[in-house]
Amino acid sequence: HAKRTGRDHAATFHPALQAALDERVTLEADLRRALDTAEFTVHYQPIVRLGTGDVTGVEALVRWQHPTRGLVPPLDFIPIAEDTGLIVRLGEWVLREACTQAAAWNRRRPAHLPPLTVSVNLSARQLDRPDLPATVASALADAGLDPAGLTLELTESLLIGNTDATVRRLHDLKRLGVRLAVDDFGTGYSSLAYLRSFPVDVIKIDKSFVDELGHGPAASALTMAIVQLGQSLHLTTVAEGVEQAAQRSELVDGNCEYGQGYLFARPLTPAAVEQLLFPA
Ligand code: C2E
Ligand code: MG
Ligand code: MG
Ligand code: MG
Repeated sequence: HAKRTGRDHAATFHPALQAALDERVTLEADLRRALDTAEFTVHYQPIVRLGTGDVTGVEALVRWQHPTRGLVPPLDFIPIAEDTGLIVRLGEWVLREACTQAAAWNRRRPAHLPPLTVSVNLSARQLDRPDLPATVASALADAGLDPAGLTLELTESLLIGNTDATVRRLHDLKRLGVRLAVDDFGTGYSSLAYLRSFPVDVIKIDKSFVDELGHGPAASALTMAIVQLGQSLHLTTVAEGVEQAAQRSELVDGNCEYGQGYLFARPLTPAAVEQLLFPA
């Protein structure tokens, strides 16, 4: 009987595994096609000054409108795009799209307001490429965007597995005049030593830490310590995933300057961002 169960188990497991593999192969093929058929779009999530709610920038977040699957979330296709190397082309497309959009918004922005900044996520495969600084310089020039208006977001894991070449590339990027941000700060189990060797301007405090706020001082201690760390190092701090007013006020009390989250706005289509930036 045991033997039969085992065989039955194997028999049902195998088709499921095969289906998962088929699905993956199909998604890969669809991804390769999607760049040419304009299925990707970029949404923009406002980044605000926590004290006032003023929009100071936006983060570009890629979206895939699949012809039959509907909207596929980034976490379902970015890893595949990274494995297949397609992220290099996709990432450059997002970068160019975001720079062009930000430059257009800045041309319409009232003169008394500081220029809007745009943040773009980079993956390890992009940072591995020696031509990344040239790609970024060309995207900025073609868009007519001031380099100071672009922030490149890198995750800690990407910085930890660094080589001398990576460090040099980051300095090359900095020399263009762009800002570098550590995304999902605090989740990387890192020694923080990389903050010494990398020219970081911004830390984005991961949502998991922001979630701790609003439940009393004990729960908030670690998050507020991260905010203070950022201040001591003269880094700009952005809190990610702010959903509740209590979280916002605690961040304001701790002098965390910027935030991003559903409390203020979700990632929006360019048209929706324009309604926010340029109300009729
Ligand atoms: P991320 O860079 O940390 O972006 C923030 C994510 O948190 C976004 O998810 C955003 O929609 C979500 N978020 C913002 N505020 C809130 C909130 O208040 N509550 C909750 N529950 N979520 C919030 P999204 O757009 O699904 O993107 C997920 C991740 O995919 C990004 O995390 C980033 O790592 C990656 N990604 C997105 N676009 C790109 C891209 O163009 N290139 C690369 N390499 N990665 C990208
Ligand atoms: Mg990000
Ligand atoms: Mg993040
Ligand atoms: Mg994240």
